Amino acid sequence: MGFDLDRFEGPVDPDLICKLCGKVLEDPLSTPCGHVFCAACALQWLAKVGSCPVQCQKISTKELNHVLPLKNLILKLDIKCDHRERGCDAVLNLRDVASHMRERCEHRAVEDCKDGCGLALTLKERSEDHSCLQALRTHSGLLQTKVLSLEKELKRQSRFLLKLKIEIALFSDPLVDIILNANGRI
Ligand SMILES: [Zn+2]
Ligand SMILES: [Zn+2]
Ligand SMILES: [Zn+2]
Ligand SMILES: [Zn+2]
Repeated sequence: MGFDLDRFEGPVDPDLICKLCGKVLEDPLSTPCGHVFCAACALQWLAKVGSCPVQCQKISTKELNHVLPLKNLILKLDIKCDHRERGCDAVLNLRDVASHMRERCEHRAVEDCKDGCGLALTLKERSEDHSCLQALRTHSGLLQTKVLSLEKELKRQSRFLLKLKIEIALFSDPLVDIILNANGRI
């Protein structure tokens, strides 16, 4: 799974986007036919389908290659900390964001509250006064935002899937017939 587009400021070069997840390539792997996908996306796809997602050419996972120059290019992009919903407004080099979130971000979760709410406390909350009621309110607000963004993501993914199905169909005539017939019937 790649990096969410909304974690980057401004538009991202379409060449840096994985056609399987629609996000910025994470650890890109290239197929023998030259198509590039996130490692996790490509492996998951090949395990199920066994051919390139774009051209339908049969390939095995052994034929996938790392694309280091592309990976390094992506690591140079600036990305927002993934704890921005909790209040972190840090923007860092992609190369440094994981260690920021693990070691330095004061909005990272450090332990669960033992006073009642059971929510994960961030470093900042632990050092300040934590109110379970306040925390639960914020939490439910975050969940609502999360639901909205998941719904948006779902719509985007299903558009992507439809596009892929059509692309695959265009490379395989019998499928084109089936799809055209199916659409004729609707
Ligand atoms: Zn991907
Ligand atoms: Zn291909
Ligand atoms: Zn942060
Ligand atoms: Zn609490």
